[in-house]
Amino acid sequence: MKVVVLGAGLLGVTSAYFLRQQGHDVVVIDRQASAAAETSFANGGQISVSHAEPWANPGAPLKLLKWLGKEDAPLLFRLRADMRQWLWGLVFLRECTPARTRHNIRQIVSLGTYSRDTLQQLRRDTGIAYDQRTQGILHFYTSPAEFEAAQAPAEQMRELGCDRKVISADEAVRIEPALRHARDQLAGATYTAEDESGDAKRFARELVRRCEAEGVQFLMSHTITALREVGGSIDHVEATDSEGRFQKVRGDAYVVAMGSLSPLLVQPLGIRLPIYPAKGYSVTIPVADDARAHQVSLTDDEYKLVFSRLGDRLRIAGTAELNGYDRDLNRVRCEAIVRRVEALFPGAGDSSKAQFWTGLRPATPSNVPIIGRSRLPNLYLNTGHGTLGWTHACGSGKSIARIVSGLAPEVDFAFAGMVSQGGVAASLQPSMRGG
Ligand SMILES: Cc1cc2nc3c(=O)[nH]c(=O)nc-3n(C[C@H](O)[C@H](O)[C@H](O)COP(=O)(O)OP(=O)(O)OC[C@H]3O[C@@H](n4cnc5c(N)ncnc54)[C@H](O)[C@@H]3O)c2cc1C
Repeated sequence: MKVVVLGAGLLGVTSAYFLRQQGHDVVVIDRQASAAAETSFANGGQISVSHAEPWANPGAPLKLLKWLGKEDAPLLFRLRADMRQWLWGLVFLRECTPARTRHNIRQIVSLGTYSRDTLQQLRRDTGIAYDQRTQGILHFYTSPAEFEAAQAPAEQMRELGCDRKVISADEAVRIEPALRHARDQLAGATYTAEDESGDAKRFARELVRRCEAEGVQFLMSHTITALREVGGSIDHVEATDSEGRFQKVRGDAYVVAMGSLSPLLVQPLGIRLPIYPAKGYSVTIPVADDARAHQVSLTDDEYKLVFSRLGDRLRIAGTAELNGYDRDLNRVRCEAIVRRVEALFPGAGDSSKAQFWTGLRPATPSNVPIIGRSRLPNLYLNTGHGTLGWTHACGSGKSIARIVSGLAPEVDFAFAGMVSQGGVAASLQPSMRGG
């Protein structure tokens, strides 16, 4: 079968790799000159099964109200005259009940564990290197109340098989000695030894090389303008190349993996995806003093920042702003991140050489991605991975390749348009169905 993958971010590239493994002819189309040039370019680097608590949780509505209008808030809604943003917000509120939160954590942990295993297997199969580290993820808390509130989700994650241990401040410093300067501020921590980190862009680009060697075709610098339906299925994709030449690309099946742009492409087909861009920031700083720099990947609960060590670089990422497709760098936010790094790890990095970046997370209200079938028989979805697209990339890519090939996925997850292994009917959520 010939499969056309739309988008060459983490989700498009992993889909292409696993589709090729299933024996399909694969063509990937992307508007950028290189793969992973948009949201997959400079993310936080964490493979974090333990980061399974969705933004939508019982404590979120109050926090969001407090943060409204605060320039340096970890999660900021900039209210706009934008119907998609308001609808997303309403569904988000519905996802904040304890029952929905528990359900979403189950989905996120299940896919995350499978995905981390799939990544490890892919590493063994290909020998791919991307500044990966397998030293776990340590989540530290400076507020005793937040540390207390983290116990229940951590326990649920342990019940689901993600071994997120609760540890003391002293144990945290033993695991990551660079935290010693912050010791007095620490209320406690959790540690998940099986979690990992690595450079997502490097991974994606290395995987592209392997895909090309296996015969996958990449049509880069091609902007997709439409998907055309004829007689109840997709007939072709329309795209223009870098010189504006119009092209039709035909396949037997199509996988949409265009990140936060996915809903705009499928909307004319009557498919409404509850995905809204959530802008995040990252800062990459060269290591100045190895002894002061962290090795273990960290999550700073108070500032909602993640820290990864990518070779001789420190990558710090976080914050979320729901404000349409704007990718502008806000200086206040950039400076707040650098100040926090310098306070926690004084002298570790050379902040004068900091590189700033923003990316648009393709966020669903539940933090659960949309993977599976659409209402059209040859159109598939692998999108909406929000904060966890790197963590979930390999598991999602392998699952969509199996679904396209008519095989059952190997993980119990509410795939779109399918019945999950646990017997729970999973289909496109009502809000995603078009008229
Ligand atoms: C600040 C930040 C920190 C993060 N940290 C982490 C982390 O630590 N761990 C984790 O698991 N996840 C993290 N994420 C999330 C993760 O990076 C994303 O979920 C993931 O990159 C999404 O990948 P994607 O392939 O869906 O989207 P993208 O990478 O955006 O890929 C979509 C592709 O579609 C292409 N495209 C779009 N429209 C068109 C068009 N019309 N024509 C042709 N091509 C088109 C784009 O060029 C792009 O290459 C973070 C995100 C941000 C922003």
